[in-house]
Amino acid sequence: MGAKPFQFLELKRAMPRELPVAVRVLGWNEIYGGYDADDAKQQSQRCIDCGNPYCEWKCPVHNYIPNWMKLVEEGRLFEAAALAHETNPLPEICGRVCPQDRLCEGACTLATGFGAVTIGAIEKYIVDTAFRQGWRPDLSNVVRTGRRVAIVGAGPAGLACADRLVRAGIEAHVYDRYEEIGGLLTFGIPPFKLEKDVVATRRHVLEHMGVRFVLNSEIDAAAMRTLVRDYDAVFVATGAYTPVDGKLPGQSLDGVLEALPFLVANARRVLAKGSESFADVTPASARTSPANDSDPFALAGQRVVVLGGGDTAMDCVRTSARLGAASVTCVYRRDEASMPGSRREVQNARDEGVRFVFERQPLAIEGSSAVTGVRVAETRAAPGAGGRGTARDVVAGSETTLPADVVILAFGFRASPAPWLAEHGVALDGDGRIVVNGANALPFQTRSPKIFAGGDNVRGADLVVTAVHDGREAGLAIARLLST
Ligand code: FAD
Ligand code: SF4
Repeated sequence: MGAKPFQFLELKRAMPRELPVAVRVLGWNEIYGGYDADDAKQQSQRCIDCGNPYCEWKCPVHNYIPNWMKLVEEGRLFEAAALAHETNPLPEICGRVCPQDRLCEGACTLATGFGAVTIGAIEKYIVDTAFRQGWRPDLSNVVRTGRRVAIVGAGPAGLACADRLVRAGIEAHVYDRYEEIGGLLTFGIPPFKLEKDVVATRRHVLEHMGVRFVLNSEIDAAAMRTLVRDYDAVFVATGAYTPVDGKLPGQSLDGVLEALPFLVANARRVLAKGSESFADVTPASARTSPANDSDPFALAGQRVVVLGGGDTAMDCVRTSARLGAASVTCVYRRDEASMPGSRREVQNARDEGVRFVFERQPLAIEGSSAVTGVRVAETRAAPGAGGRGTARDVVAGSETTLPADVVILAFGFRASPAPWLAEHGVALDGDGRIVVNGANALPFQTRSPKIFAGGDNVRGADLVVTAVHDGREAGLAIARLLST
């Protein structure tokens, strides 16, 4: 228990300092700073070590949260970093991007009435600070087994698997079609939530641990045959990239953008520009003609409407605000309480000037050659319906048009498994997700004993921390397989 058992009564929950809204929308930097040692110690002392740590259970990787709080309080930072890595191969990343209000912090005993312990910010503090002070995972006792595993996909699932394999003395070679590691950590999640030098630091740490990355390397049918032949096992962590099609009339009009290509192109542009703020690279004059696919960044002065209510939609609205849109409106077909993403991200978007229109079903995108608006109708929960995902009725006679120059489609993603999996006997379910965990199978083993899979290609589009969980468990399972 903390030095002061009732610290939470005296000391309020305080997140690290936040960039003022007027500053943050001018650039791409993360909006939250970090704690200094005193703040981290004080905030961790708010943990009452309640004896029944619901936070640990709600955390998908079951982090030892009260234990690292105590280590931070006692100034034992390197031990806290080592403990954080016992359960989570990417703690500094989850500390930044997890929807903590739905996970660990939502389950904190203090959440009701006092304000949850700032678990994510402390997790980030531990690892960022330990790395800055030179701490690295200690693999000095690892005995090499001579076994080798290929990993397809350098997203969080692939990285977590690689971490567990090298800790077990198994060589991990990670193949990715992109030029940088991270998957959606690098090319999907915008830098104002996760700066890309955080991922670069993690790459150095993993390489220091012995992980080998083979980038710019798309695995096709022939390459997969080679991997299956040459390696002791293969972990497939290729993500979920098939956009859900809203099937709206007018989707092909000039000015309609798909969310992920928009975010990926912007991530590449920001990466190429290093730390320059957008103000340094955007043309000063507002465009007068609508934006189109060939110039997805020309949003200055445009009225942007984003369709969807998840993480991707939040990232699109906040990116559009930073690209100088005249107005940004998010249209979601259910009510605010049913939004799947983090409450914190919705609040951040509101603070940055985004307008939310709830309970509106998009019916069509209007315009002759270019977008002029989105036709919507009010919705309400169907009689007897309860909870998210249940049916909603369109209210008769409620149709209106929201004016728009640019419409971004952010309806979510489905798994997009490679066609070459079939020839290895890997089964898919009806939604295209890879089937794992069959009877007598090891965790995350597919129907092909040498091939494991995890992350979004098994779950459908989900979270970074669940992908980390899958990669970790698959890595441990492969180590078990190869030890027999
Ligand atoms: P990915 O991260 O998609 O990585 C898959 C990797 O496989 C990619 O690098 C890809 O290039 C590679 N690959 C695919 N096919 C091949 C091939 N044939 N050969 C070689 N390489 C291949 N989650 C959160 O927890 N918090 C958030 O704030 C959040 N924001 C998000 C914002 C956006 C815009 C999106 C789209 C998702 C967001 N998510 C968020 C979800 C999260 O990013 C994903 O759930 C997570 O990245 C899935 O990890 P993964 O390793 O399964 O796949
Ligand atoms: Fe919370 Fe995510 Fe960290 Fe778990 S990994 S403690 S859910 S921030």
